[in-house]
Amino acid sequence: MEAKKQLRQLTPYKPGKPIEEVKREFGLEKIVKLASNENPYGCSATVKDAILSEVNQLALYPDGYSAELREALSQFLHVSKDQLIFGNGSDEIVQILSRSYLGEGSNTIMATPTFPQYKHNAIIEGAEVIEVPLVAGEHDLEAMLQAINEQTKIVWLCSPNNPTGNHITESAFAAFMKRVPKHVLVVSDEAYYEYVEAEDYPETVPYLQQYPNLVILRTFSKAYGLAALRVGYGIASEEIISGIEPAREPFNTSRIAQKAALAALQDQDFIKACFTKNRDGIQQYYDFCEAHGLYCFPSQANFVFIDVEQNSDELFNYLLERGYIVRAGTALGYPNAVRITVGSAEQNEAILTHIAAFLASRTTV
Ligand SMILES: *Cc1c(COP(=O)(O)O)cnc(C)c1O
Repeated sequence: MEAKKQLRQLTPYKPGKPIEEVKREFGLEKIVKLASNENPYGCSATVKDAILSEVNQLALYPDGYSAELREALSQFLHVSKDQLIFGNGSDEIVQILSRSYLGEGSNTIMATPTFPQYKHNAIIEGAEVIEVPLVAGEHDLEAMLQAINEQTKIVWLCSPNNPTGNHITESAFAAFMKRVPKHVLVVSDEAYYEYVEAEDYPETVPYLQQYPNLVILRTFSKAYGLAALRVGYGIASEEIISGIEPAREPFNTSRIAQKAALAALQDQDFIKACFTKNRDGIQQYYDFCEAHGLYCFPSQANFVFIDVEQNSDELFNYLLERGYIVRAGTALGYPNAVRITVGSAEQNEAILTHIAAFLASRTTV
């Protein structure tokens, strides 16, 4: 018995080191994980009660249509209820889109480096993967357009891009959409939408009226702080949504997750507060990089990507031994960079003190 041959070239997703393991390995008491872009402030205080309201209903299947959350989100986004699809995280929407559109004989285009799940799912479906290198951390939209052919099914845009944090501007996005052939789906993955400050970041939802080949992905995992509960969603034309709905598991989001997401959505003050604190945190990293002559990619997300001008594995280990988990650039296509989730002001200050000590120890030899 053998699994699909494509699976042999893949490895299961490797998450950052678990906190418990790091504690044991280095005999540390406190670990700060700044590796998965989780919200350092947790989630809205209203979420706990929303979850408790469901704990007597655990024997019942969830509402497969997510009616309550769907209603609230459709009003919030000013789209119809049938323009939404919910997933077990937006990861699952990536999977559903891949299952729906990709297969042998088709291809899909994405930047590199970018969020790895686009490629992973495309390989499972047997599609050809066309990777277009970023230029200075940004999507090379012209080269992505040139790569499109008759067999292209999906072009993935990640904005802000993970791991660089750069965004695609409104004018670039508008010009791109105009030129993409109608047989190609454009997926705009906006996992960090709530953190974006740039005024030239496009509000993509209104583009759906003009472009039935556009899909927008958002999530409750990042700014809303519900990564544990797995709720993400896609927004698209009713035609696309009804086309891909059969590829969705009927009960793919839980009762608890639906209630929690609804409560989280209704607390926009929490999102605003997190946005402000995140921008202050980013500034801490910018100031540090300026003082140390390092390049930090401009970030519209809740992480920074810093070029440390030497293989970053050593810095990664140095920080790990001191209880800080970050993401080394080696696995992300930039061996000299580290991706650090913006933490609380204290966490940022503490990790930057360690990085300064590390850099000082390198330059004195
Ligand atoms: C974190 C992340 C996701 C996945 O989020 P979930 O909703 O938790 O599955 C999707 N896209 C990008 C770019 C991300 O960074």
